Amino acid sequence: MTANNTCIIMPQWLLTLEDEQLLSDHAVVIKEDRIVDILSAQAAQNKYSTAEHVHLPKQVLMPGLINCHGHTAMNLFKGMADDLPLMTWLEEHIWPAEGQWVSPEFVADGTKIGIAEMLRSGTTCYSDMYFYPEVAADTAAELGMRAICYGPILDFPTPYGTGPEDYIEKIITAHNHFKHHSLVDIGFGPHAPYTVSDEPLTNIRTLAEQLNIPIQIHLHETEFEVADAQQKTGMRPSERLSKLGFLGPDVQAVHVTQVADTDIQLFKESNTHVIHCPESNLKLASGFCPTHKLQQAGINVALGTDGSASNNDLDMLGEMRSAALIAKAVANDASALPALEAIKMATINGAKALGKEDQIGSIKVGKQADLISIDLNEIASAPVYDPISHIVYTATRQQVDHVWVAGNLQVKNKQLCHMNETQLVELAQQWADKIQAK
Ligand SMILES: [Zn+2]
Repeated sequence: MTANNTCIIMPQWLLTLEDEQLLSDHAVVIKEDRIVDILSAQAAQNKYSTAEHVHLPKQVLMPGLINCHGHTAMNLFKGMADDLPLMTWLEEHIWPAEGQWVSPEFVADGTKIGIAEMLRSGTTCYSDMYFYPEVAADTAAELGMRAICYGPILDFPTPYGTGPEDYIEKIITAHNHFKHHSLVDIGFGPHAPYTVSDEPLTNIRTLAEQLNIPIQIHLHETEFEVADAQQKTGMRPSERLSKLGFLGPDVQAVHVTQVADTDIQLFKESNTHVIHCPESNLKLASGFCPTHKLQQAGINVALGTDGSASNNDLDMLGEMRSAALIAKAVANDASALPALEAIKMATINGAKALGKEDQIGSIKVGKQADLISIDLNEIASAPVYDPISHIVYTATRQQVDHVWVAGNLQVKNKQLCHMNETQLVELAQQWADKIQAK
């Protein structure tokens, strides 16, 4: 369908994540970029008799998944360096490769391929922290994908900039360019407390408030990070950020695997959001984010994949399942993070973390038409007692069959509508061949 037509979507099950959790025989009506009606399938056909119909007789329709943390262009490094601890992986493999290869062209191609993978797996909005955020944002805008691109800020130079002042200036320029765009935003992405000193952190906090720019930072990712900070500054990283006045409701703290009760208190008091990246934490042996404990303390926890170089995929259904399973093991409680809560972590909690709760994250009249359907008519998901259980515990990304972003149909019957997947696979291999040849 084109984004200008009215369209009735009629799934077998509808999961709105609003008051009525799961509806049958209901339709969602979309017009242009928005959800305009939710009503019984029969009433919809009478009321919108001339509208286009999309029948999804074995599917569950739900809000699009929101990937709250990644480094999308890094998927061009997917599988290049595996089975290494975080600092070895970063210092000996990723940072040298980035120094050599990252350019606007690298970011444009890597982002495009990453967006294709995300759309095919049901992600309709993602948060990105990478060099040349203006290039990533342009690519997302061109492809009709919703994104927040956080420009990185570090104490040291990279191909993207000479140091903190230069990074900050570039991010503000990009922010000004995109601030009225309907699909993409730009944010501040100070890399981590151990790579950004007090002065730039304080500047970022002041500018974020003045210009209304969101902040995302890696925080308490490993035990080493926390111990090293205590040795160098006499404080835990969260304590240092709190003393600088840095934490707040516009801050997303990514990872948070090392958590003392004092950290929880600081996150809670400041309304800082936590972004949980379970598979990256597992792969780099970084630790476990105690999601159950954080949620019980009233902290908003959302979900992200992290970059493909440390995951190695951008599959939010897989991430949701990992999150649910890990939460139970870490809490030693099988009732921790039940399926519906895991789904919320990948949808509405993500919308809250990104400051977009009024636009996305649930199916509600007036919100953006960011929707996905998952085909449960497959052997792996048979029989169906409860679609909510299957979304988390049996469905794989191959079962995502329709995806709309802002009312624009991006995936139809498991095929990308506006991109050529074969060409993208070739493009990815061309980069790998070039990188390997050096
Ligand atoms: Zn990351």
